[in-house]
Amino acid sequence: MKTLVSLCKRRGFIFQSSEIYGGLNSCWDYGPLGVQLKKNIERYWWDTMTLRDDIEGVDASILMHPRVWEASGHVEGFTDPLIDCKKCKARFRADALSEACCPEKPSKHPGECGGELTEARAFNLMFKTYMGPVETEASRIFLRPETAQGSYVNFLNVQTTMRKKTPFGIAQVGKAFRNEITPGNFIFRTREFEQMEMQFFVNPKEDMKWFDYWKEERIKWHKSLGIHPQKLRFYEHGKDQLAHYAKQAFDVQYEFPFGWSELEGIHNRTDYDLSRHEEFSGKKLQYLDDDTKEKYIPYVIETAVGLNRTLLAVLCDAYHEEEVKDEKRVVLKIKPQFAPVQIAFFPLSKKDDLMNLTHNIKNRFSKKYFSQFDVAGSIGKRYRRQDEAGTPYCVTIDFDSLEDKKVTVRDRDSMKQDRISIDQLENYFEDKFK
Ligand code: ATP
Repeated sequence: MKTLVSLCKRRGFIFQSSEIYGGLNSCWDYGPLGVQLKKNIERYWWDTMTLRDDIEGVDASILMHPRVWEASGHVEGFTDPLIDCKKCKARFRADALSEACCPEKPSKHPGECGGELTEARAFNLMFKTYMGPVETEASRIFLRPETAQGSYVNFLNVQTTMRKKTPFGIAQVGKAFRNEITPGNFIFRTREFEQMEMQFFVNPKEDMKWFDYWKEERIKWHKSLGIHPQKLRFYEHGKDQLAHYAKQAFDVQYEFPFGWSELEGIHNRTDYDLSRHEEFSGKKLQYLDDDTKEKYIPYVIETAVGLNRTLLAVLCDAYHEEEVKDEKRVVLKIKPQFAPVQIAFFPLSKKDDLMNLTHNIKNRFSKKYFSQFDVAGSIGKRYRRQDEAGTPYCVTIDFDSLEDKKVTVRDRDSMKQDRISIDQLENYFEDKFK
């Protein structure tokens, strides 16, 4: 992971938050390439979901009525068991004590520094803040720990305004906040992160059918990001691991450098959430099927994936080190469709006519493809920089280009070079980015 973290910094993907102040633990800022990659993944998810006729999008507020979190069960149940060391004041998750190290003596387990460990106590993971100028219990609200509740409380708004019939879904992308006790592994577990969640409302009689459907759709989606299929697998939650709302749950896991870990959860949440909101709000949240006259609270099949974790999986999967002419080549083999820079344009030298021709060619492409212009250093050095950024194609404009109207296109993965007519470039890339 250290190698990836340093590549991310060097190439402008991800920086430590507030770095000039010494950084803020487990908070990260996305640089120019990181934010573009993140947006490309987010856009792909959003299109996958909302270009379907049976899914609508929403963008709910991060701050919600505090009763929402009572109804959802988060006030009572969204807790981790926490243990403190009285000597070094470190805090550990009780369920992960055997894997934890004492921060004072990292070779030792918690408590082996001679400190006494407290009993486990429940620690609520929701961030609290106050709305308005007075900081009282009545003005206390939470930063949402998941986007899902924003979709549930809007269930009827969406259903009636869009005249939806079950089965239909509500998709949402947005920030969520959890005061994790043990954040870490770079952007894998942070306290502020982004989720891409879709709630699919179905007739309770058809829940298993739709659960199986979404399970398969979602692993296909991860594969379509270009992630190696052998690095993806399902993990089924046993009865004792199920969240309070779930009847059945599968995780899509990726084999990260630190082991198999969750990327996405697919949950059958039953009618738990809508029933609880009915109970707590006093508003009916039932669905009436006009054709069959059936009246019911729909069951929800949820697909919940972390945007940052998906980006981390894409980066880990794309990272390759190769030996080229006795030198190490570091290359990010990101699927061209998602690369933050898709085509880089290099004039061989800074001579005016080469610079002008390069700018002219680049301008033809920069509306359609994420493009970059680079004139600094040797062509070899420029290739290496673009390899590390994951740029699939580099176009070099040399002195011959002025005469033969052709340029050299170099492929990131094979490192093969093609000599292509300038007027054929559109067709050439059309084919490559298909
Ligand atoms: P975990 O078991 O890893 O804490 P979870 O089962 O609590 O995750 P869900 O509540 O199902 O996670 O959230 C859906 C998705 O949101 C997760 O699969 C993950 O990709 C992402 N996610 C959850 N917590 C975090 C976090 N602290 N940092 C980054 N992403 C997260």
